[in-house]
Amino acid sequence: MIKAFQYRIDPSKTQRKQMEQTIETCRRFYNDCLAERKTAYEEQGITIGKYAQLRKVKELKATDLFATKVHSHVFQIVVTDLDKAFQAFFRRAKAGKKPGYPRFKGKERFDSFGYKEYGNGFKVDGRRLRLSGIGRVAGRWHRPIEGEIKTLRIRRKAGDWYASFTCEVAPTPLSKTGKVVGVNVGISSLLATSDGELIENPKWYREGQAKLRVLQRRVSRRKTGGTNRRKAVLILQKYHEYVTNQRRDYLNKVATQLISKYDLIAIEDLQINNMVRNHHLAKSILDGGWGYLAQRLTDKAVEADRELVRVSPANTSKTCSVCGYVFENLSLSNRWVTCDCEMSLNRDVNAAINILKRAITRDGQSRWDLPWADTPCVSKETAAL
Ligand SMILES: [Zn+2]
Repeated sequence: MIKAFQYRIDPSKTQRKQMEQTIETCRRFYNDCLAERKTAYEEQGITIGKYAQLRKVKELKATDLFATKVHSHVFQIVVTDLDKAFQAFFRRAKAGKKPGYPRFKGKERFDSFGYKEYGNGFKVDGRRLRLSGIGRVAGRWHRPIEGEIKTLRIRRKAGDWYASFTCEVAPTPLSKTGKVVGVNVGISSLLATSDGELIENPKWYREGQAKLRVLQRRVSRRKTGGTNRRKAVLILQKYHEYVTNQRRDYLNKVATQLISKYDLIAIEDLQINNMVRNHHLAKSILDGGWGYLAQRLTDKAVEADRELVRVSPANTSKTCSVCGYVFENLSLSNRWVTCDCEMSLNRDVNAAINILKRAITRDGQSRWDLPWADTPCVSKETAAL
């Protein structure tokens, strides 16, 4: 199992300069390789492949003054990245989609370089990260790295530097709890569970959004192309990064809690018709964060040997979770649902129960011994799922 670990790093001024220079050398090399492929194809109809370009690394290191100091793996990764861009282009073209030819990268669009073998170009050395040609860089190791380190990416984001490791980690199954849960993306709260628990948006979320708007306005008031605007943009980017990290941190904690508490977690497969659902989510913290949370749940479920089930989101809010009646006139302002069968529940909790029911009755029979699991709540489209 591959797991990613990211840390802020604090390079010295000299190290920062070298890292900037490495990125710039990589960017020029990337554009040169792209130009070579493009010209060969346009002028002679020849496709230049990855292996032919990997051979250019030696030549680059012999001719480019700065490249001599950079580890050859760094340039090999540039070639691989470009090749991936071409593979994606071919795939899209083959699938009949609008392909989008790989693009030349401007300075704003190139901000990382990588290493591919631990101990060969990079190494964690106590509290520092040793990088070939750059030296020992201080890191903020806010959580321990697990497993066997495979690769490393150095990234520049909003003027800060990060080290992202990928590691091979052995799964660590959690002991069974005998509990199952359905999770619904809430309208007024962040999430609602079938146990009746409402997970709220943290208070800082709205505060952060308000401050982002202020910073955004500040940027738009500055003159285009001026130094002041560039400064304001950097402040905005930094704050944006901060807000994103804060939100991800929170969603990670939510995912960890759900995984530790339940053997099976049912969520909506929002990609199926996110067009329909999106406006419901506009005000929610999950607007844009849902994909992240669903991915974290998926990864953590694999790691802990839990079951994550995605079900169709159709009518989960509109259906009575007790008798299966479908309410026709339920609007977004209805926060509470009641039914003739005496069901009376928070709207999001009712939906969460329906999501759980769909997950555990998905093969036509209840897979869990739950008192209400036999009540029909499987709509036609779910039965087909
Ligand atoms: Zn009912």
